[in-house]
Amino acid sequence: MVNDITLDQNNTVPDNNLNLSDNLLKPILLADEAATLAVGAIFSQCATAGFVVFLHGDLGAGKTTFTRGFLQGLGFKGKVKSPTYTLVEPYTFNDLTVYHFDLYRFIDEEEWEATGFREYFNANSICLIEWPEKAGYLLPEPDMHIHLMHDGLQRKIQFLANTTLGEQSLASILKQTSIKTDDKTQSA
Ligand code: ADP
Ligand code: MG
Repeated sequence: MVNDITLDQNNTVPDNNLNLSDNLLKPILLADEAATLAVGAIFSQCATAGFVVFLHGDLGAGKTTFTRGFLQGLGFKGKVKSPTYTLVEPYTFNDLTVYHFDLYRFIDEEEWEATGFREYFNANSICLIEWPEKAGYLLPEPDMHIHLMHDGLQRKIQFLANTTLGEQSLASILKQTSIKTDDKTQSA
């Protein structure tokens, strides 16, 4: 169960020219790879079908690790490949398909139309997108922006809701007993 995992928010480094609001959680420290997997698994319980997530962060920031945790949280037991060359990898669950995009090598807008990627964004899918900025306006507005950042040898993660669905999911993340909520109350 994902609830067993403790994510300690006390050690977080405040980032901050960003205002804290209901849409934004303070950065959460991810001490090791297991913590990144854990937060991905927690998030998988808070995202509903139709959800679109932009995963921001440098190479090695933990975007694919987070996605692996997300898929494991939904019960996926197999290997999660980084879709750097294929651009997208689908994972099918009962009535849900999770599409994991890595658009780092995306260059061709025509390819986007030709491949039918647009249809992957639908009411029965969840799309997690690494390097969304590479496809720019071709992508729909995300429900959530997730930022992963290096912090020495560790990582930090920050959630920013961008739609009502995203806000609902953020509220649900906060309800997870393992994530401390105290820090969130400080508003700018
Ligand atoms: P990205 O997809 O952003 O390029 P990856 O998820 O492939 O990054 O992660 C790169 C490396 O970072 C992996 O070796 C992974 O084990 C490591 N890693 C992930 N999360 C953490 C963490 N919280 N602390 C330290 N290393 C981490
Ligand atoms: Mg990656």
